[in-house]
Amino acid sequence: MQIDEPLRRKLVQAVAATVIAHAEELTDLDQAIGDGDHGLNMKRGFEAVLGDIDKLVAQPLPKMLAAIGTTLVMKVGGASGPLYGTLFLQLGKAIPEAPSMSEAADALAVAIEAVKARGKSTVGEKTLLDVLAPVLDALRAGADDLPAVADAAAEATKPVQATKGRASFLGARSIGHADPGARSSALIVRAVASTLAEAA
Ligand code: ADP
Ligand code: MG
Repeated sequence: MQIDEPLRRKLVQAVAATVIAHAEELTDLDQAIGDGDHGLNMKRGFEAVLGDIDKLVAQPLPKMLAAIGTTLVMKVGGASGPLYGTLFLQLGKAIPEAPSMSEAADALAVAIEAVKARGKSTVGEKTLLDVLAPVLDALRAGADDLPAVADAAAEATKPVQATKGRASFLGARSIGHADPGARSSALIVRAVASTLAEAA
């Protein structure tokens, strides 16, 4: 699929807009099981992305994604900054300029493995990986409802006890709340999937 500059702009705008619009919700989630900064962290990162949008979208898809990764590493902070930074950076390194669905899935798989390595974490620990991994599986299976898959996966982190990140300090008290990073990942997946669906 050719992702030209106008579409790249739409994608970046959609992702940034939804993260920024949901900052308060992400903060509330992080207040329950963390330190309450996830919304602000992500908002700061994606405001920086928006501030740089002309330069970002002028680049081919792989370079644009890698540049977004660098911005997120620098601006988001916390645990999630390096993790989202790694995700976008590695996606950018692995994805072709005009990816097919299966090439996009392969690139996402590479990026997920990089996040796991960076976070020393795996699926099932109540993190953003609990959304990204099922979304990858659904993409590979040809599912056409990725936002629903992502939302359900974020919701499914509620009964899980966190074993990574700040939420793990709470032990069993982390049970019963959705993971903020899982939620922000679901928002990003929804924005990407619905923008691509509109463009198709
Ligand atoms: P911090 O935890 O430093 O305050 P944020 O609040 O911005 O950073 O991000 C918290 C989110 O980061 C968590 O909800 C979780 O999804 C994710 N996270 C934290 N640690 C890890 C890890 N080791 N591996 C994967 N994801 C992690
Ligand atoms: Mg936090």
